[in-house]
Amino acid sequence: MTKIPSRKTKIIVTMGPALESGARLEEAMLAGAGIFRLNMAHTSPDAARAVIRKIRAASQRVGIEVAILMDIKGPEIRTGDLASPITLELGVNFDFTCETESTEVWHGDGTASVGVNYRDLVHDVRVGDELLVDSGLLRFAVIEKHTARLRCRVLVAGVLSSRRHVNLPGVDVNLPAFTAKDRADTAVGLEEGVDYIAQSFVRRASDVHELRAFIKENNSRAQIIAKIEDQSGIRNLEEIVEAADALMVARGDLGIECPYQDLPIIQRRIVNTCLEQGRPVIIATHMLESMIDRAMPTRAEISDVANAVYEQADAVMLSGETAMGQFPIECIQVLDKIARRIESEPDAGTRCSVAVNSERMKMLHSAATLANRLPGSQILAFTRLGLNGSRLAALRPIQAPILAVTPVPEIFRQLNLHRAVTPFLMPFDADPDVTIERAISMLRRAGAVSAGDKLVIVSDIIAQDQTWESIQLRVVR
Ligand code: PGA
Ligand code: MN
Repeated sequence: MTKIPSRKTKIIVTMGPALESGARLEEAMLAGAGIFRLNMAHTSPDAARAVIRKIRAASQRVGIEVAILMDIKGPEIRTGDLASPITLELGVNFDFTCETESTEVWHGDGTASVGVNYRDLVHDVRVGDELLVDSGLLRFAVIEKHTARLRCRVLVAGVLSSRRHVNLPGVDVNLPAFTAKDRADTAVGLEEGVDYIAQSFVRRASDVHELRAFIKENNSRAQIIAKIEDQSGIRNLEEIVEAADALMVARGDLGIECPYQDLPIIQRRIVNTCLEQGRPVIIATHMLESMIDRAMPTRAEISDVANAVYEQADAVMLSGETAMGQFPIECIQVLDKIARRIESEPDAGTRCSVAVNSERMKMLHSAATLANRLPGSQILAFTRLGLNGSRLAALRPIQAPILAVTPVPEIFRQLNLHRAVTPFLMPFDADPDVTIERAISMLRRAGAVSAGDKLVIVSDIIAQDQTWESIQLRVVR
């Protein structure tokens, strides 16, 4: 078997009709998508269950293990249902009502209205604030506050349809972090064994703690990805990074909640904070937006993807591109191609800024340093709970791929998110030396290593009846 160099940057794809038709799921796995995301803003728990089973079945068929990420909606503000879309012209008045979630068009003085699912809307905004609807396509200024009704003026005209997302830049929204729908969705996700829950609009560490408690109650090992989407999330970034297992730079909402010229600065700050704390970080939204209906990326998109790789993000994510685009597989191929090309550049190398305080980190740091000094070497780490694997990834070895062997299926799938980590599933022997030999023959069969390869091995050893942690240098025979 010939050895294919592994890609370090991981690819996340979002499920939707485009990926669910025909053999697309299998094709996506073969093209290199390692994590499949369910966007619960558009999915019922029952539909999610069916999609999860579909992904697992496809994964069985192609023999490639993939991770599943359930993205829960969180405290999202939405307009209600409309019998038909309303055309809103520049400068006219329009009301948002918050008595009920249902919607009526109100004709008292000729002003139309729509309901909003947020009771405290009138209380939380001030006259002069802006209200953005449908990803900022429609823009309103608040001109009067009434009981349970907000009178606005249209600043940017457009057509309002049913159930559109509302953003209130800079307003501290007091909706619960973990809603009834989130609870129902998460329960099904955990029951079906999803690997990650992505939590939308995380505003503070306690939001993450609340979800963590729910996951624990359900006896699940699922990890939490905190999505940073608004100004509160940015303000409390450090404590959120500390509380979560991974972060997502949710540029869709961030680009509306913050001045867009700040977005690159915010992205860099989130990535740097994650690198310092050793947390995986995902760059999401509009990576290849133009490829929803075109087979080629724009030059600006190519640079944006490359920038994420240069910044040393762990993963890049596709949303609409794979959920409902015309070229879902081509999008994965484009990400794969750009990531591999940029990773091969010498200056795309390491930016290790994680703290090296614990004994474990000092040992792993030595292993990474050794690999850095041995051109062409690979790191082989044995990791029961995933710690050796994820900590090594956090140390960002310059070129060495990290082959992480674990006996635990959930850990095996979760390691998929970490930069440069290729996970392998294999039972461990009581004797670590037997485990190492077994792993090396498995890796040879899988084409991950070949004779003559240098391996920096992080494993237990037994010496004089005691178990020790060790770093070894071996050459594959
Ligand atoms: P969404 O989150 O796609 O669930 O809105 C990502 C983003 O806001 O960028
Ligand atoms: Mn969002």
